[in-house]
Amino acid sequence: MNDSILGLHHITAIANNAQRNYDFYTHVLGLRLVKKTVNFDDPSTYHFYYGNEGGTPGTILTFFPWEGIGSGRNGTGMATEIGYSVPADSLDNWLGRFKELGVGAGELAERFGEQYLPFTDPDGLAIALIVPKQLDKRKGWETEAIKEDMALRGFHTVTLTLQKIEATAKVLTDIFGYRLVAQEGNRYRFQTDAVPEAALVDLLEEPEGRVGRNAAGTNHHVAFRVANDAVQMEFREKILESGLQITPKIDRDYFFSLYFREPGGVLFEIATDNPGFTVDEPLDELGTHLKLPRQYEGSRAKIEKALPVLKSL
Ligand code: ZN
Repeated sequence: MNDSILGLHHITAIANNAQRNYDFYTHVLGLRLVKKTVNFDDPSTYHFYYGNEGGTPGTILTFFPWEGIGSGRNGTGMATEIGYSVPADSLDNWLGRFKELGVGAGELAERFGEQYLPFTDPDGLAIALIVPKQLDKRKGWETEAIKEDMALRGFHTVTLTLQKIEATAKVLTDIFGYRLVAQEGNRYRFQTDAVPEAALVDLLEEPEGRVGRNAAGTNHHVAFRVANDAVQMEFREKILESGLQITPKIDRDYFFSLYFREPGGVLFEIATDNPGFTVDEPLDELGTHLKLPRQYEGSRAKIEKALPVLKSL
């Protein structure tokens, strides 16, 4: 199955304050900061990658924290909810932790026969912790506060909100190899059989929905995973053949990327497993150094001075 789309690779969202973002994802949620780098197009802004121990594709949530950026608004043409897989029986503990730490959480609810807990991060980004029907065998990152019985395993689903789902569904089924597996009201669940986890995409149809605005607290793009750049280029051809525009291959240091806007308005990326996050830091030191793209290494002192100081908890 190596020539398939292997589920989700990463999701990238926008935040405001870098320290607040770092504290929330590492302390409150217990994720590992696996890479601390800067925005390729704007080296005065951080780019944070949070994931499991090694930043395995399917576990990676990344942020551009833009100090002082206004709040965005979820709406159509966007990824509007990130679903993380968590262990069975952990949701009550999570609800307790969120109450204790003042996190804006909703009520426990059920979707497609699975219990979930919706909440928002400090910028208003919508996330859900979901107990999957099938045992998720991925190992979560452990911290002082979050042990294996609560740790986030990685992505379960991403939800895309669309005025019409048909054309987006066609990209998922005809190009990416997903199939429609369930429907509840206006929510349509698509799944790939190529991987056991991070294999779901929900399309939420809202014909009267307002178009979203991309700023703090909203998702910027959704990256799908391929094994390597040879497979990636085969998908590039398929996407061009379908009549959509797509970028050339871009080297992102930790993976190679292609970007295209799917017909419903969501920015999609196709990202490779190679070379991965250990290309410039050993596994046990991931996220502990400020890593700069090669073209900025010469201006390191200036860049370090311009970036906000980040304190570890
Ligand atoms: Zn990306």
